[in-house]
Amino acid sequence: MTRPATSIDERFMLLALAQAEAAQRAGEIPVGAVVVKDGAVIAVGHNAPIQGHDPTAHAEIMALRAAAQALGNYRLEGCTLYVTLEPCAMCSGAMLHARLERVVFGAPDPKTGAAGSVVNLFTQPELNHHTQVLGGMLENECAHLLRAFFKERRVNPHPLRDDALRTPDAAFANLPGYPWTPKHLSDLPSLDGLRLHYLDEGPSDAPITWLCLHGNPAWSYLYRHMIPVFLAAGHRVVAPDLIGFGKSDKPKKDGFHTFGWHRRVLLEFVERLDLQRVALVVQDWGGLLGLTLPMAAPERYAYLLVMNTTLATGDAPLSPGFLAWREMCAKKPDFDVARLFARGNPQMSEAECAAYNAPFPDAGHRAALRAFPAMVPEQGNDDGAAISREARIFWQTRWAGQSLMAIGQKDPVLGEPVMRALASQIRGCPAPLLLPEAGHFVQEHGAGLARDAVTRFTGTN
Ligand SMILES: [Zn+2]
Repeated sequence: MTRPATSIDERFMLLALAQAEAAQRAGEIPVGAVVVKDGAVIAVGHNAPIQGHDPTAHAEIMALRAAAQALGNYRLEGCTLYVTLEPCAMCSGAMLHARLERVVFGAPDPKTGAAGSVVNLFTQPELNHHTQVLGGMLENECAHLLRAFFKERRVNPHPLRDDALRTPDAAFANLPGYPWTPKHLSDLPSLDGLRLHYLDEGPSDAPITWLCLHGNPAWSYLYRHMIPVFLAAGHRVVAPDLIGFGKSDKPKKDGFHTFGWHRRVLLEFVERLDLQRVALVVQDWGGLLGLTLPMAAPERYAYLLVMNTTLATGDAPLSPGFLAWREMCAKKPDFDVARLFARGNPQMSEAECAAYNAPFPDAGHRAALRAFPAMVPEQGNDDGAAISREARIFWQTRWAGQSLMAIGQKDPVLGEPVMRALASQIRGCPAPLLLPEAGHFVQEHGAGLARDAVTRFTGTN
């Protein structure tokens, strides 16, 4: 492209570059724009689709909207738009609709550019009677900003949010029985940049996807005895760490955590991974939250494996064992998580117990541990109670999948009485498997149970 740069065009492109830098500071792809009329800037805009949950929030659209507001006119005749990157088809279309007089862009965009790189909407005589185009203005400066941004993202694809902590990787080195590759997501709408860790093993077209949801204060490590069984059957396993737990980011404030937010994250997670033929595997908070998921997308779920958990509907009293647990957590917020596991599971090695302390190197990382016990819905209008009542109706009347319930009988918190009540609310739930050796964390005795579940759900022996 030719570059008959005038100092005036360069001056305005520098202002567009300043907007691009503002986008970058906000975690967006650095593209900026300004709209000029009669030698004066009348509007600015920068790329903001992530922050605004808005796929149309490109720099040009933001600037065009602001300019039209400033002029009180949706036609931008006599205006020039400066933008650091070649406009896409959407933005080019908007400029043509606005009858913009002129667009000046910086770097060409070989992937989506609609001013010559991929297509050229501006040279279509049927579309454009008004807008002149000039490309390559301060091209090197504009392109450098983008290249540096993407390089940084490759090196550090999930920058840490200011209001969160991230347990150092070293804390998770050499954990016994946990060889799987960490996977991360931070661009679900609800996550807003928080990094969620998950395991995703086995073939994506497997006949069953085991969606394993842990509770408080555990993480996906809890499923290490069950995952190999599911994989050996040729199935897929997906096991996320709830935000605040395991290898996922940990918001600093206790008050960050709410029932509704965590449920939204899980719903978005299932949609993003497009999980099909799901066997939902739940225990503790994995069930409090997880049992409310299938009603939102029943076609995705075919099986349920439910271990010590409950639906907290706010219309039945919480168990005395749970109330005692909640009181303990409030009185001793820094309780030793490893010791909690050791007490109920004499078969676990010291290193296995220590793996449950690994996510929480200090009190700052323990906001979720403090928040979750008090988050269990207790009254009818507590956050999560209404959705749990809706879920109860779903399991009672609409659930058409195959179920298996296993009860760790040594659990004082969500043990046999709580589980018998839950079984009566799950349509077609067969008589529960009773595990006399297992406590609250049933998964620590989960290998045999996993084999049983595979056999029942696949009809093989
Ligand atoms: Zn665009």
